[in-house]
Amino acid sequence: MRFDLVESRFVDTDVRPDAPAVIAADAELSWRELARAAAAWCIAARAEGFDRDTPVIVRGHKEAEFFVAMTGALLLGAPFVPVDTVYPDERMRRIARTLGASTYFDARRARFERFDADGESTGDGARASTLREKDLAYVQFTSGTTGDPKGVQIGRESVASLAEWMREDFALGDAPVFLNQAPFSFDLSMYEVFGTLALGGTIVMMSRAACMPGTAFVEALANARVSTWVSTPSFVQQQLLDPRIAQASLPALTTFLFCGEMLPVSLARRLRERFPGARIINTYGPTEATVAATWIVVDDAVLAAHPDRLPIGYARRGGEVFVERDELCIAGPYVMRGYVNRGDLNATKMFERNGARAFRTGDLGHADAGGLLFCDGRMDDQVKLNGYRIELAEIDAALAALPGGAYAAAVPLRRADGTVARIVAFVETGANDERGAQLALPPDWRARLAERLPPYMIPSELIACRLLPLTINAKIDRARLADDYRLAMLDSVVPGDGR
Ligand code: AMP
Repeated sequence: MRFDLVESRFVDTDVRPDAPAVIAADAELSWRELARAAAAWCIAARAEGFDRDTPVIVRGHKEAEFFVAMTGALLLGAPFVPVDTVYPDERMRRIARTLGASTYFDARRARFERFDADGESTGDGARASTLREKDLAYVQFTSGTTGDPKGVQIGRESVASLAEWMREDFALGDAPVFLNQAPFSFDLSMYEVFGTLALGGTIVMMSRAACMPGTAFVEALANARVSTWVSTPSFVQQQLLDPRIAQASLPALTTFLFCGEMLPVSLARRLRERFPGARIINTYGPTEATVAATWIVVDDAVLAAHPDRLPIGYARRGGEVFVERDELCIAGPYVMRGYVNRGDLNATKMFERNGARAFRTGDLGHADAGGLLFCDGRMDDQVKLNGYRIELAEIDAALAALPGGAYAAAVPLRRADGTVARIVAFVETGANDERGAQLALPPDWRARLAERLPPYMIPSELIACRLLPLTINAKIDRARLADDYRLAMLDSVVPGDGR
């Protein structure tokens, strides 16, 4: 059995209906059970006022019901808006306000909930307004420079194209079993969602807690016979500390599918050693291009040809990826339909190319003589921390909202290979001496930021300074702040305290 993304319905219903579709900590569902549960979810959603083109926020973390709700929304024609519990309430409310939504589906309680009445309800009885864009599959909210997350609208044609690419080019075999650990609010996870649905596979949902060291993570993967590992390179890097992450313990594993950040050469080499029989696929792309836009199988020949930095490959079928003034641009049916209510951004980031939607990524890139593409970092202040996409300006905005309205700058501290190790923040207090400066910072800044930002966006340190340095363009000089921080640490007399 599988879910046809073009027709938006279950098909081949007499083929292995009892095969597992969803394996989660709280429940397991066969394909037949998934179809029943999704149909029941649809009826409940309709009773709540949801219908075609009405976005429905789904909130939770790795419950089977989360998957049921996303599938039910596809059946109904209502775009789902996945919000993991890693997002604090305030962030979900901002998302709800952008969508005009007053009700969300709580996957933990398996029921619809109304927002409480302190201003975030639409107040007109409607559950959510319909979107101007029609026939969307989902809306994914990602970090925004204004301080509000921005909603990336992905059409049904885009997810159908994603599934076709996975089916035709990834060689995942019949009914692949996907490891799903990225939160559904991170678009990487859409590989597992649409791969499972379209290919009649199984999604094995692992919660944050279940992926921690010392848990039965490897056993869970082995028992479920996971065949396709989907994650950021950072996630697998952490897991490799466990020597059991190797072919002998996971004999069914045939594919590593990466996206979301640079795949380091050293990591690809280690994986070749631990899993000599597995294929490593490096894919690249932003949320705005429906998970990814380029791909390459990283085999020994690719590693030998690119010993310093791996390419991101070639454009996926149906689209085009090209370099314009050093910037990677993407065109095709899998480019988003635009950000929700952000005409300003849509006007600058989107354009048309040969009749197709196109998007300027903000990534620097180049192609070699044979058209092989490379990603060379960012043109702006967007960073990746363990695969999470972060606009530094969104952290700045949250810092500025602290009592005292601090003028502040989030600063990424980078490793030698350019990847971000952690984020610290500098706050301008105007105080003349260090003691006065530190006193000006609210002692509970961490808790206050946590009301607004997910944990991965909270700086590990807040450092008071009298004045923030500016570049010649009068922008905050984050590079200089990072250098100052590094120099101060070299001067530190307390070695090894981790700061
Ligand atoms: P996200 O929207 O969270 O998927 O983040 C997209 C951004 O992550 C891209 O614009 C790139 O900056 C970066 N990125 C994604 N995949 C890769 C990759 N394979 N290699 C290098 N950078 C990547």
